[in-house]
Amino acid sequence: SYGAGDHVLSGTVNGTASFTMRAQKMAADSNYASIVRLVERAVESHAPMVRLADRYAVPFTVVALLIAGFAWFLSGDPVRFAEVLVVATPCPLLIAAPVAFMGGMSSAARLNVIIKDGGVLEMLARVRSAAFDKTGTLTQGKADVVVIHPASRSSSETLQLAAAAEQYSVHVFADPIVAAARAQQLELPDVTNADEVATNGVLAHLAGGAVVRVGKPAFIEEATGSIDRPELRAGETAVYVSVGDELAGTIILSDPIRPHAADTISRLRGAGVAEIVMVTGDVAPTAESVAQTVGIQTVHAETTPQTKVEIVQAIRPRPVLMVGDGINDAPVLAAADIGIAMAGRGATVASESAAAVITSNDIARVADVAYVSRRTVHIALQSIWMGIIISVGLMLVAAFGYLPAVAGALLQEVVDLVAIVSALRALRAHKGAERDRAPRHEPAQADAAAV
Ligand code: ADP
Ligand code: MG
Repeated sequence: SYGAGDHVLSGTVNGTASFTMRAQKMAADSNYASIVRLVERAVESHAPMVRLADRYAVPFTVVALLIAGFAWFLSGDPVRFAEVLVVATPCPLLIAAPVAFMGGMSSAARLNVIIKDGGVLEMLARVRSAAFDKTGTLTQGKADVVVIHPASRSSSETLQLAAAAEQYSVHVFADPIVAAARAQQLELPDVTNADEVATNGVLAHLAGGAVVRVGKPAFIEEATGSIDRPELRAGETAVYVSVGDELAGTIILSDPIRPHAADTISRLRGAGVAEIVMVTGDVAPTAESVAQTVGIQTVHAETTPQTKVEIVQAIRPRPVLMVGDGINDAPVLAAADIGIAMAGRGATVASESAAAVITSNDIARVADVAYVSRRTVHIALQSIWMGIIISVGLMLVAAFGYLPAVAGALLQEVVDLVAIVSALRALRAHKGAERDRAPRHEPAQADAAAV
């Protein structure tokens, strides 16, 4: 249920009480509309799925013609030529891959991962490097205000100023700061205008003329000169607040690491992703503490949307996967070979530029969908090869005159059916992903507890 000041999602149904709502966005900007757009785009694009099979088409045709030609030559009977070609069915080549990829996309959807087209699965199956954003991606982005260190203003004044500015931000830290001010029933000063300065924070002009900055230290220091940085414990981040040229205070937020984050990184490593790095707008100490906990060795801290793009483009080996969230990550998600957006808190611009969107709040879905992609490609290739081998076998039988054309025509349909049924196994790929979810060390713990 909602309270005063909350954001109301499109499609929300009101109960009995009356209320006043201000529309802040157009229908086209709603979560619902952006998911519909993603799905429409997925439906429109189908080309890359066929690529896999295209590689086999020419060799297969040549082999079929050679076998048929030899059969004719050896038997001296042109009917033999026809009998061979009747069972040379191209159907597994044409249809097994698209069927498997549709199945893989449907499997991914069951895991709450919307994939824009089959080509994404094909590329994801080959991924060799990955870059992870920190705030809102490796961490929950459901931060809580822990404590406020006052500087030139009191704690509650600092919170008041910060909340006034953060009302206009979509950053993951904006909601908890506004919520903390509301919990203390603080009156927020009027804001004449506010600007989100990507990866830095918010810059707001108050009605009285004061200029408030909320965000990372370097951004605040532009107004205040050098400031003290408090000691942070693991899982904590600091947001600095200035008013005019003074540091008002520092808000300490806890931004816990997502459950399964470490496990997701190790599953990707296990699946052959050789290089895994963190790219974050946050400062190095916080970034490094998170990286260490989740098992990432390489950290790029204090990056901007532009430097994130440059870093990700320079990563080798390719293809490279980027996992991110929020407005800041939209460019880098588009620049990576595969971008996956974490959109559990609602679809943002990141979702539009990503190749796949995780609509739940579970980072393990990254490793799950990587598994589904490998399984899908495996099933597609298996189905194609099964069709080719059975078809070539039948061609050889026909070449020696043991397969009349009518029987061949019927059997050829059976081959097609076998290939399609085999490809449909991809519909169940998500089951395997659940099994792939590292229960490896848990039994050992259970045993220890039993003893
Ligand atoms: P990441 O790249 O890891 O997602 P961000 O660039 O989103 O990180 O944020 C990094 C840091 O920038 C935060 O820890 C915070 O200090 C600061 N920051 C950026 N925008 C805001 C904002 N609107 N409110 C508070 N802090 C912000
Ligand atoms: Mg982020």
